[in-house]
Amino acid sequence: AFSLEHISLLPADPLFGLNARYNADKRSPKVSLGIGAYRDSNGKPWILPSVKKAEELLVKDPSYNHEYLPISGLAEFTQAAAKVILGNDSIAIKEKRVLSIQSLSGTGALHFAGIFLKKFYKNTKETDGIPTVYVSSPTWGNHFQIFQSAGLKTATYPYWNNDTKKIDLKGFINTINDAPKGSIFLLHACAHNPTGLDPTHEQWLQILEAIKVNGHFSLFDSAYQGFTSGSLEEDAWAVRKAVELKLPLLICQSFAKNCGMYGERVGCVHIVLTEISEDLNAAILSQLNRIIRSEISNPPAYGAKVVSKILNNPELRSQWEQDLKTMSTRIIKMRYALRDELVALKTPGNWDHIVNQQGMFSFTALSAEEVKRLEEKHAVYLVGTGRASIAGLNEHNVKFVAEAIHEVVC
Ligand code: PLP
Repeated sequence: AFSLEHISLLPADPLFGLNARYNADKRSPKVSLGIGAYRDSNGKPWILPSVKKAEELLVKDPSYNHEYLPISGLAEFTQAAAKVILGNDSIAIKEKRVLSIQSLSGTGALHFAGIFLKKFYKNTKETDGIPTVYVSSPTWGNHFQIFQSAGLKTATYPYWNNDTKKIDLKGFINTINDAPKGSIFLLHACAHNPTGLDPTHEQWLQILEAIKVNGHFSLFDSAYQGFTSGSLEEDAWAVRKAVELKLPLLICQSFAKNCGMYGERVGCVHIVLTEISEDLNAAILSQLNRIIRSEISNPPAYGAKVVSKILNNPELRSQWEQDLKTMSTRIIKMRYALRDELVALKTPGNWDHIVNQQGMFSFTALSAEEVKRLEEKHAVYLVGTGRASIAGLNEHNVKFVAEAIHEVVC
């Protein structure tokens, strides 16, 4: 007989559960350093000036409507987005080796990528033929469930060394060398989540070389381009180097953070092939379109139209690059403010890692118990791993947060 009684209750999602507790908290002041979303200097969500302008232009356009997009998305958006990550002069784009489709932001891109690779990736030397996706330890928690629900296996490579608070490059490279040939390696293009630690150019070269030598496939997750350093070029360095080295790769690109378009779900998958073949391009696109059609029919239009306006209009594009600087500069300033407050308070420990890390997050090295006490005693919210979203800090609350950290550490 049909029964659903065997279904068991799962715990709340760590991040969205945290957000719900924060929203329900009646104390004042309270500070959310949980979810990775940019906040302005008053702790409020920020609509980027470039986005505001693009939205005004969009709705004024007489051709504006809410018709369906093509299955693979808005071509003027996906093509411009490919240039954002690969560069205007990308040789791969010129040689027509890049296939781009629209996705439901970065998560949806990873999901399509997972389904596509499960179905078609044949290069693996795994005995059961199912490729393993290697993700960093630690990584964005959602990576595991996205790939597992696509039917892929997951494993981890060492990344964060808790003693040195640096990248465990040796452990990382050893895992690349030991993995079955043709494995899939997920690489954070920049602003590694949650550690905020990115490889240096020199370290990237070693990583990419090892991936190449072992015939692995690179799956780049690019969720923070331009948000990290303020420069779209610098934040795409590793991806572009991998393309230059002729590694077969796929990029999952999100515009959630760098355009502040979180809820609009704007993203792309770009597959960069190593050979030029019109027939293969057409075949791959046809298969991707079938996957998209069966999953979401066609992607959402509004956010893609807004971002497309920004990318294709020189004035808006330069405003966007300024907006990226505004966000990245404020975050870097808050890193220093927090570190300096902790030093001034003489909080035990060394807090330099806060300023040495990059992007939205700091891996604070606070313990789960300290994080719990921060929430319960001080109404300062961060996830149990000790990852703090620096974007939640501002001039008004940074001292309060530092004093709270001081109290829980002492
Ligand atoms: N990848 C990483 C590493 C992330 O941190 C995030 C968001 O937090 C994403 C992908 C996907 O985000 P979205 O689906 O909102 O684009």
